[in-house]
Amino acid sequence: MIKMALSFFTQTKSPIHDRIRSDDASRLRLKYDTYYHIFEKQEGTRVWKDGKEFIMLSSNDYLGLTHHPKVKEAGKQAIEKWGASTTGARLANGGRIFHRELEEELANFVGKEACHVFSAGYLACASAVTGFADRKDILFADKNLHSSLWSGIKLSGARCERFSHNHPDHLRELLQYEDTKIPKIFVLEGVYSMEGHIARLPEFIELAKEYNAFVVLDDAHGFGVLGHEGRGVCDHFGLTDEVDVMCSSFSKSLAGAGGFVASSKEAIDYMRSHSKQTIFSAALSPSACASARAALQVLQDEHQHKERLFKNLERYRSILLNLELDIWESETPAIPIVLGEKEKVYYFWKALLEKGIYTIISIAPGVPPGKDLIRTAISAAHTDEDLDRVEEAMHYAKSKI
Ligand code: PMP
Repeated sequence: MIKMALSFFTQTKSPIHDRIRSDDASRLRLKYDTYYHIFEKQEGTRVWKDGKEFIMLSSNDYLGLTHHPKVKEAGKQAIEKWGASTTGARLANGGRIFHRELEEELANFVGKEACHVFSAGYLACASAVTGFADRKDILFADKNLHSSLWSGIKLSGARCERFSHNHPDHLRELLQYEDTKIPKIFVLEGVYSMEGHIARLPEFIELAKEYNAFVVLDDAHGFGVLGHEGRGVCDHFGLTDEVDVMCSSFSKSLAGAGGFVASSKEAIDYMRSHSKQTIFSAALSPSACASARAALQVLQDEHQHKERLFKNLERYRSILLNLELDIWESETPAIPIVLGEKEKVYYFWKALLEKGIYTIISIAPGVPPGKDLIRTAISAAHTDEDLDRVEEAMHYAKSKI
């Protein structure tokens, strides 16, 4: 007993404790209080922090469906009928009929044969890579991919070559050095989340055909926004059949939580046997599944949300461009304001907060060096009054840097 107590007092702390205590990134984050804020209330496009109201100008609720009555009602009814969770992975404990129904509807909507739904977009997008890539393959990845795809790439164990952002010519250069016999996978995004750029998909597809590459595309930010009724980037370019695997998140246009991978029936079956994120993760909850399904229906029945989104986008872009702010040639509702230096970004962000506008700071290494930015996103739910306030706040913030 005495020996145990002594060993407790003499035990040295693990170096991990020192690492935790001395971490610069966490220290700076806590000092400047830029992330992980907590809001006590949300209504429409408004959120409240410490009693102060803000217009949310950075969430990805592109179509403004978060408070749609049908989306909320579907979630409530599913909880009543099925409970809160299925508390298990589908491979082991089985899926439920509502998973299959949503999968069929999603596959049909995006123009693929089959689909698998996940409890997070992150898992879906990681699985879209791990489900297919083998150690012996070469992956070709856009430098500015989302973290979920990088996770999938790393976990796959395959060699990865990065090409300049949205630059098919650079990809072509890299391809020329590779053995034609090694299987190749391109990993792309439909709309790049930070920059709002639409992928130069026709050119990438040309290359994929030439080099016999398999194409995985994450359309988290194109789904619901581009293409007929929001079918996404593949539909926008008429290239749905040429993209082998499409993945996306429910947490943007579908205003929910979860994600999906869509492809041919045999490819989805293959992924279900090979992706550990698919095999070992609990099934999408009944309420999340039902809300996503209702939102998918709203997308198809109520085109006014997409129309309003693009009307708001036009006004918002002109506010920023009239102020000569650099929006990095964004073509979509995900709009960065590139300021290029950490300090400028911080003061701009603070000035917007002062005026009741909530945005996100994104600095290197999260963005390329010299591209430090404020990431904003416009929604169909923003009202004309919201945009008046945004305009005034942008003028004020610009005057502060
Ligand atoms: N892919 C992209 C491009 C994203 O922007 C995100 C979310 N930011 C994800 C995947 C992950 O989706 P989720 O947040 O639903 O997990």
